[in-house]
Amino acid sequence: MKVAMIGAGYVGLVSGACFSEFGHEVICVDVDQRKIDMLERGEIPIFEPGLDTLVASNVQAGRLSFTTDLKSAVAESDAVFIAVGTPSRRGEGDADLSYVYQAAKDIAAATDGTKVIVTKSTVPVGTGAQVKRILAEANPSAAFHVVSNPEFLREGAAIEDFMRPNRIVCGVESKYARDMMRELYRPLFLNETPIVFTSLESSEMIKYAANCFLATKITFINEIADLCEKVGADVQSVARGIGLDRRIGNLFLHPGPGFGGSCFPKDIRALAATAEAFDAPLHIVETVNSINENRKKAMAEKIIAAMGGDVTGRTIAILGVTFKPNTDDMRESPSLDIIPALQKAGATIRACDPEGMREAAELLPGIEWLDDPYDAMDGADAVAILTEWNHYRALDKERMKSLLNRPLMIDLRNIYGVEEMEAAGFTYHSVGRMPVNAGA
Ligand code: NAD
Repeated sequence: MKVAMIGAGYVGLVSGACFSEFGHEVICVDVDQRKIDMLERGEIPIFEPGLDTLVASNVQAGRLSFTTDLKSAVAESDAVFIAVGTPSRRGEGDADLSYVYQAAKDIAAATDGTKVIVTKSTVPVGTGAQVKRILAEANPSAAFHVVSNPEFLREGAAIEDFMRPNRIVCGVESKYARDMMRELYRPLFLNETPIVFTSLESSEMIKYAANCFLATKITFINEIADLCEKVGADVQSVARGIGLDRRIGNLFLHPGPGFGGSCFPKDIRALAATAEAFDAPLHIVETVNSINENRKKAMAEKIIAAMGGDVTGRTIAILGVTFKPNTDDMRESPSLDIIPALQKAGATIRACDPEGMREAAELLPGIEWLDDPYDAMDGADAVAILTEWNHYRALDKERMKSLLNRPLMIDLRNIYGVEEMEAAGFTYHSVGRMPVNAGA
């Protein structure tokens, strides 16, 4: 089957490469000439584990190619996926659908005959219906079958998630579209991956409801962590104790500095905006949003408090700036709130991140960037872990102590044990866990 993937970002490029791995002939289209040039040179514009080899092998097999020429890519395809961005509208919470609608207009102009148009971007309820109207108005002589096929992959594990999803969700309105989606996902279908066929509206809602539920789970354990600190409980034990209950489950129960990334923050704002527009407010979702925003700010205060309440003229080593490990994505990363607040309070920041520094350098001015975590700690008054990269999980504590002015660690990801750090002579602050030697 011939597939055009409109948008070659995190979702489009991974989905395109994976569909080509399934044996389809995929052409990825992007308006960003720089991205397409890089891809044509064999370079990957984003960091996603395994994507370089997957892309290279499918390009070599002749199943995957790249272009800025949407018209010819669409003309030759049986199915066209829309995988463009849907960021929050500036100053508003609702999703900016201008890229999706522009793509729909471009697709309509390039279509001749029958085509399946699949929205993979995360879009509010009603967008599929609007895409259908745009296509029909722009090209009444063509036959379009509009599908909603939201993507659930996680950056950092995107290929595995695409290849072994918990489920595939398809909002369809015709047998033609349903058969086409089955054929596209055939290898997974044969693997007995559940496919939920539903309406366009339900499919669109499933994506937002799933993300908002997960964001709520994170926010719940973050608030429980704060209470644990006050009452002397250990949030790790609490998370394990509740997570073993199968009705709750153990995933997304890791406390931290608040969620960030390209999806959760914008998706909860968008769903809250949709709910308000339909006069059915989602109070839980609105609250999760405001708790999370406040939490990112509170984390800077936590670091300052751990340093005695005043960081004027002090140097802080920051380990990790991306919103999670195994990605270079900086979108809405907690570090974007925490680091400027520390700078504003008078601290000097030395930071490192295995993959995020290039992206982060533009967003976080006034930082000294180091490749090596030990170099970042050299002469610093404290070290704060913001992202749980594996690189930071087994640091040499004696070496750290010899480099830091004071053995003080603020671990916002709980990647070290309280007793372990205290035994090593550190003053150690984490999330939802009390020091064993309080006051040490
Ligand atoms: P992205 O910003 O990485 O990529 C979007 C790409 O689309 C960009 O390269 C941009 O240049 C291109 N583009 C915009 N308009 C275009 C047009 N008219 N024609 C061709 N290309 C165009 O975004 P992303 O992270 O891949 O997200 C895409 C969608 O998938 C969003 O709706 C997002 O919510 C959703 N999603 C993202 C993730 C994730 O982890 N990133 C996971 C699931 C769903």
